[in-house]
Amino acid sequence: MSEYIVTIGLEVHCELKTESKLFCSCPNKFGGEPNSHTCPICSGHPGTMPVINKKAVEYAIKAGCAIGSRINKFSKWDRKNYFYPDLPKAWQTSQYDLPLCVGGEISFEVNGEEKTVHMNRIHLEEDAGKLVHSGGHTAVDYNRCGVPLIECVTEPEIHSADEAVAFLEEMISIFRYSGISDCKMQEGSIRADVNLSIAKRGEPLGTRTETKNLNSLRSVRRAIEAEIARQTDVLESGGRVVQETRHFDDASGTGYGMRSKEDAQDYRYFPEPDLMPVVMTDEDIERIKATLPELKAARRKRYTETLGLSAYDAEQLTDEPSVADLFDGTVALGANPKKAANYVMSEIMRKGKTEGEDGITVGVTAKQLAEILALVDKGEINLVASKDVLDKIWQSGMSASEAVDALGLRQNNDVGEIEKLVRDIISANPGPAQDFRNGNEKVLSFFVGQLMKATRGKINPKIAGELVRKLLTCS
Ligand SMILES: [Zn+2]
Repeated sequence: MSEYIVTIGLEVHCELKTESKLFCSCPNKFGGEPNSHTCPICSGHPGTMPVINKKAVEYAIKAGCAIGSRINKFSKWDRKNYFYPDLPKAWQTSQYDLPLCVGGEISFEVNGEEKTVHMNRIHLEEDAGKLVHSGGHTAVDYNRCGVPLIECVTEPEIHSADEAVAFLEEMISIFRYSGISDCKMQEGSIRADVNLSIAKRGEPLGTRTETKNLNSLRSVRRAIEAEIARQTDVLESGGRVVQETRHFDDASGTGYGMRSKEDAQDYRYFPEPDLMPVVMTDEDIERIKATLPELKAARRKRYTETLGLSAYDAEQLTDEPSVADLFDGTVALGANPKKAANYVMSEIMRKGKTEGEDGITVGVTAKQLAEILALVDKGEINLVASKDVLDKIWQSGMSASEAVDALGLRQNNDVGEIEKLVRDIISANPGPAQDFRNGNEKVLSFFVGQLMKATRGKINPKIAGELVRKLLTCS
């Protein structure tokens, strides 16, 4: 074990999935032609007046409620002043001393142990635009300017890259379940800044550095590991760590300093004169809190304790909110939890992964899935045929029963009809029939296989097996 203790605090920026931007009615959409989602307000024309998007305020409060924050009933806006080409107003409208949410905590499992990290605050602010460098020029795209985001600040209670990643995974899950953000790291809708210092055991905290704008869990892990190694080297060689803002280069896997404390910016925060403070009543807060669904940790617990699923299955099913919702809906319609879990984890997740580009796309409703499972249970179709049924109804309005008929897959359970087929197969295969009478039991599956082939899997294999044995024995 290293003799240094690592102390990490995270600042996570998470874009909210509202329809429009924070202070104007431009669409809040990823991508699009550069500067096509802009207007005089979000491109900072002088004299324009911002109007607060109430949904964004609600989502920020919902995020706070999901992690147990105290919601400030009086919260205000402040201008954070700095000049950079991606910020046309030359200030970012943010919240300084009275954020919407204070405190809260997130618990998660890391290397088999439960860990809790306390939150300092969550505030609401606007995103900046994006610089695009190409062909020796730099262009600016203001589509992202004014997109609402929450900045979530943890207390410095994280002590390793593993803990930081596990914390972020849990936070992402909570926000996705809450429906406030897609948290798509590859689209930049969630980004993390890492504040990190190291100190010998028993000594006061060391000088911290801040590595900004990490946009994947992998970058967060690698940046933390690289920065721990760098600070350890500096101290071991008798140097001192300089307080600075750093950038981590994903391609080379190394970090470098951008600016030291001496040239750190003074943002000269001051209250935003163009916006009224946000005033919430207890009833407002309760109403927002009531819109929160059951979150991942609670579902996982319910799946193991009430439905009797294994911890592994519960983890798999709750990974994606849409999958967990499908599973819950199917069980609510009467499906056996274990059978529904197996079907969702094998067929739905396999199919959802192939067709969806990101995460899992669920193309069936709980009603359709419950019907498939009921048809299998009643022996109307077998499991193999159920996959064709699933393909047929995936993203179509057809019911499972309609699909079974459309595909001609309804299983034949008529003993009389199956018996006739069995007699035909036996007389067509006198050799194997004799083998069975001579004591070769394996020949049974040969006959069932032939029957399934002849009927394209449409007869009940259990009835067929029993009849083959009976007729071979008595004839
Ligand atoms: Zn706009």
